[in-house]
Amino acid sequence: PNPATSVKLVLLGEAAVGKSSLVLRFVSNDFQENKEPTIGAAFLTQKCTIGERTIKYEIWDTAGQERFALLAPMYYRNAQAALVVYDITKPASFIKARHWVKELHEQASKDITIALVGNKFDLVEDDEEDSLRKVSVEEGQNLAEEEGLLFFETSAKTSYNVNEVFIGIGSKIPDS
Ligand code: GDP
Ligand code: MG
Repeated sequence: PNPATSVKLVLLGEAAVGKSSLVLRFVSNDFQENKEPTIGAAFLTQKCTIGERTIKYEIWDTAGQERFALLAPMYYRNAQAALVVYDITKPASFIKARHWVKELHEQASKDITIALVGNKFDLVEDDEEDSLRKVSVEEGQNLAEEEGLLFFETSAKTSYNVNEVFIGIGSKIPDS
């Protein structure tokens, strides 16, 4: 079999948007309704097969609290990929996502692959009255287009589009 390509990936985003839940879904295909907050950062690995290639993700899941933001550069400095996550029911988390994208473009590796991820898609209802959506698909798409990012809306709860994020990122990573 082909040797796996190792890819360092970092998750960034406001507290409680679902970063750890996305990782738990991807790594263990599990979901916890009351996930305990991440302290500092957590490290996990998961392999992902894309066509003929195997990618071994080395995942740094960071804490969203302000007091940990100063540590973020330690995690994204050597990263080949980043997921910038927001909660589609929380406009403030989308503003925070913009800031993370800007910081990555200024401070991270020039060839980092970034995916913008709007999580908690399960809280969207077709009937606007019942829907908790506060950030439109277009807002997400526009930011992704302006900044050259991959874009996904996901649900860690239902697993909607979660694997697609990692397959999408992996497809953009050159063989090393
Ligand atoms: P983090 O701080 O960004 O790592 O967020 P967590 O993964 O700890 O999730 C924060 C809260 O949101 C927890 O109560 C999760 O159960 C919940 N959560 C995470 N992802 C989803 C999702 O896709 N849908 C819903 N409804 N809740 C979610
Ligand atoms: Mg967390």
